[in-house]
Amino acid sequence: MAWHKDEDGLAAKEKLQRQLEQRKAKGEEIRLFVPPKGKKLATEFWGQAWQRHLEGLADYESRLPRGRSYLRQGNIYNLEIARGLVTAEVAGEYMYEVSIRFTTLSGEKWDSIKQACAGQITSMLDLLSGKVADGVTRVILDEDYTLFPRQKDISISCNCPDWAGLCKHSAAVLYAVGLEFDRAPELFFTLRGVDHRQLISAAEKSISESSVGDLTIIPDDQIAGLFDIDI
Ligand SMILES: [Zn+2]
Repeated sequence: MAWHKDEDGLAAKEKLQRQLEQRKAKGEEIRLFVPPKGKKLATEFWGQAWQRHLEGLADYESRLPRGRSYLRQGNIYNLEIARGLVTAEVAGEYMYEVSIRFTTLSGEKWDSIKQACAGQITSMLDLLSGKVADGVTRVILDEDYTLFPRQKDISISCNCPDWAGLCKHSAAVLYAVGLEFDRAPELFFTLRGVDHRQLISAAEKSISESSVGDLTIIPDDQIAGLFDIDI
């Protein structure tokens, strides 16, 4: 009876394609997430770190791999990464809506990360490409700093009938997120609710504080007094 099932699967896929075309015709934006062709998924620092991190989470270990093949089949549409939230549509038997919430990083943790990295990240390009000192890499990946979300920070929802928590649709989306981080690493920080530029400014600030002592901001009225002029 396998052929019968395949026929159904094919029909379902064609039906979904038609629905997508109709939505497009109505002016809706439909963006296919194009899967990578090579054997590897993530290839850059942030994407790889994300992938490795997820694969290390005990609850996902057994169910995550199914997402790889699902992603490769080109089933993901309209992937969006925002502050603490990832959303996407995934084509399966039907079109499923995946929404993954992430608790954003606490101000306290972010402050400690900034402190630990102060003076060590000299350029945005280095940070985004992961070309940073070993000490910084350790902070980035350290579980205590929680820059990468812990299991309890992640809450997954998909409207498919699979109630096991991490279904293949959401697993595929989690992998796709890593590939987006490869393409645009700043999105990782967006998702975690922090401004990555602060890692650079924190570094520059600590340099300026130690080497330039006279950067005190003087209010206008006092400047006038200093130079005895009218402003
Ligand atoms: Zn699902």
